[in-house]
Amino acid sequence: MINRVQLANLPTPIEPMPNLTRLLGGPELFIKRDDLTGLGIGGNKTRKIEYLAGDALAQDADTLVTAGAVQSNHCRQVAAAAAKLGLRCELVLTGEKPKHTQGNLLLDFLSDAKVHFVSSRETRESTLEAVVAALNQQGRKPYLIPYGGSNAIGVMGYANAMHELQQQGFNPDWIVFATSSGGTQAGLVLGAHETNFTGKILGIRVDLIPQDFSSVLTNLVNGGAVLCHSRWRVDPASFLYSSDYNHAGYGVLQPSDIEGVRLFARYEGVTLDPVYTGRAAGGLIDLIRKGFFKPNEKVLFWHTGGAPALFAEPYQTALLA
Ligand SMILES: *Cc1c(COP(=O)(O)O)cnc(C)c1O
Repeated sequence: MINRVQLANLPTPIEPMPNLTRLLGGPELFIKRDDLTGLGIGGNKTRKIEYLAGDALAQDADTLVTAGAVQSNHCRQVAAAAAKLGLRCELVLTGEKPKHTQGNLLLDFLSDAKVHFVSSRETRESTLEAVVAALNQQGRKPYLIPYGGSNAIGVMGYANAMHELQQQGFNPDWIVFATSSGGTQAGLVLGAHETNFTGKILGIRVDLIPQDFSSVLTNLVNGGAVLCHSRWRVDPASFLYSSDYNHAGYGVLQPSDIEGVRLFARYEGVTLDPVYTGRAAGGLIDLIRKGFFKPNEKVLFWHTGGAPALFAEPYQTALLA
């Protein structure tokens, strides 16, 4: 049995986007609102955390430990899950402690997470190990959640989301979304196999690393398949992702990110985020303009959340410029 705790408001709604469809003159656009999963302002990580926290509770853990960027949505949702489940939370955040505690970081503190700042991704691993060792020494039981919640257990969240989509009776030709640590995409691919989904799953990459993203996805999908006692293994050549929109690097705003955030807000009243969904939307808009999709196709933009980062620098100022 795979352990799970209920944390998200599911199923999340699927809504048409008629105004953007008309504006862009391309395929029919829809949106799946995983920004509305609810817990601690919501987002895609909550689906993964239902399984990761379920595993933590099964192991009698008392503290969730994870890592990410200062404006990490993942860390914010782990902190909220810990609060809801009566666990403690310690976060290792890469970046300098900002002058003002804004956006996701503000929410981390409100959830009473203990935050450790580290200067680089290199020192992050050693700091994580030190945090876990210190907790063990204090007689606590830490549970380490990987970066982005992306491991075989976390993959269950989006495998299950594909079953949810099938139950909603919606069968798009394309699913387009922001992909980063790969757990969301791997889960969608595993779930697509399980549900005989016939559409295509296209991730828009938001960061430059890792270079060999395909092997990251392969390990995650196959790890998830093993956990489900499935003998199926994914064909690494079948992954669809674009590396055309990550050139500025992770979290560095580029014009297409800003246009993505602005058009969704202005034409559909949908709030995207600057780092992930804005970038994916900018990519989607560019692909539509280039005629990548057929006009009669249905494209589902899977909103993965992240809006709290809008209310933090440098994004707030850049989006107003
Ligand atoms: C983490 C995150 C993603 C990417 O999900 P992965 O599973 O890490 O690929 C996309 N959008 C938002 C808002 C996120 O926080």
